[in-house]
Amino acid sequence: MIDIRHLSKSFGNHKVLKDINFSVDKGEVVCIIGSSGSGKSTLLRCINLLEKPSGGQIIYNGKDILNNSNDLTNYRTKMGMVFQQFNLFSNLDVLDNCIVAQIKVLNRSKEQAKKIAMEYLEMVGMAQYINARPKQLSGGQKQRVAIARALSMNPDALLFDEPTSALDPEMVGEVLKVMKALANTGLTMLVVTHEMDFARSVADRVVFMDQGFILEEGKPEDIFNNPKEERTKEFLQLTI
Ligand code: ADP
Ligand code: MG
Repeated sequence: MIDIRHLSKSFGNHKVLKDINFSVDKGEVVCIIGSSGSGKSTLLRCINLLEKPSGGQIIYNGKDILNNSNDLTNYRTKMGMVFQQFNLFSNLDVLDNCIVAQIKVLNRSKEQAKKIAMEYLEMVGMAQYINARPKQLSGGQKQRVAIARALSMNPDALLFDEPTSALDPEMVGEVLKVMKALANTGLTMLVVTHEMDFARSVADRVVFMDQGFILEEGKPEDIFNNPKEERTKEFLQLTI
């Protein structure tokens, strides 16, 4: 579905991503792990074009998206994003959070948008909170709304940037449970996470990033039980 070739990103003369090559198949769940500052967020942000890559190609359904400006808006809506800090609209209630972009970007009618939003709010267990404002919700509830909002756009892939890192420990489980259920529906997911148990049990593939490179990737059992690279071993020892 997405094929990333020789992707690089610099901020000024700081090279943050260096020759990233990797692809994601439809229906695949890929977890990206690595130390803080290794470029994981920048990679996700380049993939959905919140950041403009400095070089390389992003091939999506056979087209280089960076050289097809006509397809940019469509591409962006196809790459859903879930952020560490939820990024809900604080002035809108839960339902409006889930319908505003459907109406403005996808030109859906309000009724249609509402129907779709309700379907996903049910899925994440937040349908009874449609009139609540974000500040009335717990972190876990906010993140489940953010997931429903992203799904309401019917993305081809959902990118998660440390979706549980801002949560109190007792709320991590409810969000991971929703993500696991989503993975089982065949949704294509790219998940930056420090939740190694989640990566081990849900990922089809684990990617280890170090200093702007993909140092190693493979099946979870290979990466976790038998890492090839010294840096991967060190990182995993520190996180256990
Ligand atoms: P990670 O998500 O793995 O912790 P990031 O992608 O957030 O890593 O950051 C990688 C490096 O890029 C860090 O050194 C960070 O300071 C730098 N960086 C990220 N975003 C910006 C930005 N907008 N401007 C300048 N430097 C940035
Ligand atoms: Mg990050």
